[in-house]
Amino acid sequence: MTVSVRMQRSALRKINMHVNEVARSRGVETIGWLLGFFGRSEVWVCDSVPCTRYKSQSRYGAHADAREEVELAMQYPRNVGIVGIFHSHPFRGETEHAVFHSATDDSTLKSRASRHENYLSVVTDGTDTEFFVLRDGAQPVKPEIVESISYREEMKSYRCPLAFRLRRETSLPRVDFVPGYLEQEMLALVERDLRGDGLRVKKDSNTIEVPALQGGAESNSLVITKTGSTAMIELEMILEPMVFVRGGNAEELRTAVKNEILDDVVFLLWNSLGGGSTSLDGVKSFEANLGSFRVHETSPLPRKIFKPPRGSAVLVREG
Ligand SMILES: [Zn+2]
Repeated sequence: MTVSVRMQRSALRKINMHVNEVARSRGVETIGWLLGFFGRSEVWVCDSVPCTRYKSQSRYGAHADAREEVELAMQYPRNVGIVGIFHSHPFRGETEHAVFHSATDDSTLKSRASRHENYLSVVTDGTDTEFFVLRDGAQPVKPEIVESISYREEMKSYRCPLAFRLRRETSLPRVDFVPGYLEQEMLALVERDLRGDGLRVKKDSNTIEVPALQGGAESNSLVITKTGSTAMIELEMILEPMVFVRGGNAEELRTAVKNEILDDVVFLLWNSLGGGSTSLDGVKSFEANLGSFRVHETSPLPRKIFKPPRGSAVLVREG
């Protein structure tokens, strides 16, 4: 299948300025990410961000700290965000052909193309830039460089205000098992509640309603109360995810809403509980505010802004 790539000129300029500056000042390779969105057979690249935290960086290769990519991906709603990677070959003048897709580059692209068949790999020496996609090995593609790309023109967006409660009684032994457990429970809950006409699309106001998940929450919080060997877990969530879709049939919207809810809940839970490994032995209660997300329709792409909770978690031990 052929793919057409459109890239905003400013995103390309940003890559080459960064690559040239690092090549000049330190003579090492640089890497970074391409941001945009995918169509069925199109890729739009609206922005680019250079990596700032490296695991290793030399003249002949560079590896990003894996956390940076995860954190970057979290800043965008699903269907928007990372569409490719770029890296530099700062060997201009040293070899005849500096811009090529090496065997290492091939295997990197192979691992990324599992996320999307049209995932892009861009190689540049700061002047010449080449684009590749994975088809039987790395295939060059010729992008169309355009002055501006508007996701508002290419995608439809819907707000989906939600407020719901989840109560479960369990016998989990440790507090840090709670996010994983609730992730499973949430998945079951949204799969049930979004089914059929559980999800209602209001085209005139660009909103999506999920009646089963609207009402019943006053805050974003998690409370665990222990009695004997069982624990009562009470999760309250107020979310206002936004989904961005190209086509927008019911199935596409259902998947997008489901993914947004799970992304938000999982992030908020792990953010408040993930670091610890507290045993529930001797714990009487645990209470945490979880913070919240808001989607801002900024340019060149919409962003998800995380607002951390006020106050820290309160853990009360028996006795
Ligand atoms: Zn390379």
